[in-house]
Amino acid sequence: MAEKQGGGQKVKIVILTIIILACLGFIVKQLMPKKYTYSRVLIDVETGKVFKQNMVAGKPVEFPTMSPYSKKNTAYPAYKCNKCGTIFAFAEVTPKMPEPGKEPTEPPPMPMGPEFNMPKCPKCGEMMEITVPEIPQGQDSIQVTGEILIAKPSSTPMPVPPPPPAPPAQK
Ligand SMILES: [Zn+2]
Repeated sequence: MAEKQGGGQKVKIVILTIIILACLGFIVKQLMPKKYTYSRVLIDVETGKVFKQNMVAGKPVEFPTMSPYSKKNTAYPAYKCNKCGTIFAFAEVTPKMPEPGKEPTEPPPMPMGPEFNMPKCPKCGEMMEITVPEIPQGQDSIQVTGEILIAKPSSTPMPVPPPPPAPPAQK
């Protein structure tokens, strides 16, 4: 008799433990910071595929990033020039974030000036008419044929004015 009762209690404890663990798991899940994702249109420069990639907000991605088509780090943000119609890749610079809990050893190289990190058409040099190529509803990707040009952000963001001419030495 005693054995049977003990066995029943054991089962109760096991069930109770499972319930507590399930509750804890739920609470932990609620406390976890939510990950906000957004999608970006990327282009795989090797296969010419333009596709949407989900990104986690607040987690900077360094380009080139992994392409699901080439299975290599060949994907860049995709842009389209409305002037000449070229779809091109942009080697975007990801601002380095200081690691949490660590003092930044050097100031992060932040974009300076409006022209920095602005895609510029590698074919015609257009800067104002640049948009993100659209992927039609119901399609995973679009195919770009031909060589994919990679635009680089300008390394000299602000034109440095030439030093004023030295005043003529007076005698
Ligand atoms: Zn162009």
